[in-house]
Amino acid sequence: MSSKDWIEKDYYAALGVQKSASSDEIKKSYRKLARESHPDHNPGDPKAEERFKAVSEAYAVLGDEKKRREYDEMRSLFGSGAFRRNARGAGQPGGMPFDVSDLFGGAGGGGEARFGGGGLGDLFSSIFTGGGAGGAARPRGPARGRDVETEVALDFPDAVRGVTLPLTLRAPGVCETCHGNGAKPGTQPVACPVCHGAGVTTRNQGSFSFSEPCRNCQGVGTVVEEKCPECHGTGGVTKTRTLNVRFPAGVADGQRIRLAGRGEPGERGGPAGDLFVHVKVRPDELFGRTGDDLTLTVPITFAEAVLGIDLRVPTLDGTVTLRVPPGTPSGRVLRARGKGVVRRDGHAGDLLVTLDVVVPATLSDEARAALETFAEQTPPAAREHLDARVRRFS
Ligand SMILES: [Zn+2]
Ligand SMILES: [Zn+2]
Repeated sequence: MSSKDWIEKDYYAALGVQKSASSDEIKKSYRKLARESHPDHNPGDPKAEERFKAVSEAYAVLGDEKKRREYDEMRSLFGSGAFRRNARGAGQPGGMPFDVSDLFGGAGGGGEARFGGGGLGDLFSSIFTGGGAGGAARPRGPARGRDVETEVALDFPDAVRGVTLPLTLRAPGVCETCHGNGAKPGTQPVACPVCHGAGVTTRNQGSFSFSEPCRNCQGVGTVVEEKCPECHGTGGVTKTRTLNVRFPAGVADGQRIRLAGRGEPGERGGPAGDLFVHVKVRPDELFGRTGDDLTLTVPITFAEAVLGIDLRVPTLDGTVTLRVPPGTPSGRVLRARGKGVVRRDGHAGDLLVTLDVVVPATLSDEARAALETFAEQTPPAAREHLDARVRRFS
């Protein structure tokens, strides 16, 4: 008796009892059924003989507390029925190491919906579906589509103002030529010669026997003899789709935008996954950004800082005139209100203009002469508090 038998055979049904039946009920039912189907009472009746064997086999397990517990555990783990899954293709030679993640991971899945498969959590619901010999069918429930991640680079002004861009996404999809079974049109996947279509093989180790997904067909139960020319037997193709994605004004570099329901479609009526868009913002040659404020550095001359000036500076969408009052120190920040990021709710950041007094590296003779005159007319800089300290060392 193998664990595969345990997965496939419903011993409770064979004895006509509930799964919750007490050991007395099981014993009573077994005795009754064994008596009725006993070959001595049904000479020459092969059906009765088969029933008698089935009843005896069932009682050998359910009549033994320990074996019954193991049987219950195994069935709750593996469900009832053999593996059922569409062909993945014959491209896996039998000797290859069996890669569980390959079979059960993201690329795998169950049945016709292989490409949307989830992780290990989906394993039992998607691989071990019903319909096997002696097993009751257990339909798979709806499954949420997978989340999709992508990255997009925005120009600086687009990020500030907001923009709608078409995003082209590439995602695995089911091959329409073969409907995902990987077989050339007009042919069908055939039962796997190794596991005879069961999808499981049994391995004995000591006194235990283990069922494991068949390596030849990867638990599918079928193999493809003539491959689909479109997908080369894989059953999958890369599909592209284009989405118009709205990036709100003020979207920031490094931000992740979630678009609910725009990921991969769900299966069997399940909800779609989400689309996550990672935003990169290309730097601007003039403007910087701090939150919702834009920043700009404007060089001015010493004379402009001293005498004052009305400065016309660019904003992202036009120009603005800022008054630099006489006697403005270098590094002073002027603020153009509302010229930063304008949010949808109307909240607006500012344009922060940093004044940078530029010192000329060379001077004309006239400028030098004028500056020397200026220097004579100007009181020295207020350095007395430093001079006292300097004198200590001289
Ligand atoms: Zn195909
Ligand atoms: Zn197989």
